[in-house]
Amino acid sequence: MPLYAYRCPECQDFEIQASMGQVPESAQCPGCGTPSRRRFTAPHLSRSSTSAYRLIEDSARSASEPAVVSSPGGRRHPSNAGGTTLNPLHQKLPRPD
Ligand SMILES: [Zn+2]
Repeated sequence: MPLYAYRCPECQDFEIQASMGQVPESAQCPGCGTPSRRRFTAPHLSRSSTSAYRLIEDSARSASEPAVVSSPGGRRHPSNAGGTTLNPLHQKLPRPD
């Protein structure tokens, strides 16, 4: 669930979890109980939803259990499946008999 930020006028900023569409305009401060207004920031959906954290998590996961690769990387040209080159100059290269 997204986190929403509130600012207590007495002591601190805090965050509460609320489902979207049910975000209270004010919430009681967990420290002193003062009703606090919501800070209008973008909701923190999840740290793992950012591309930076996903990259970090993928790197960490790959270190312990590498992703299985079923075929060599790189895409071959469809008409080049036989392994010959498409460069016409290569036709003039010497070939074994
Ligand atoms: Zn407070």
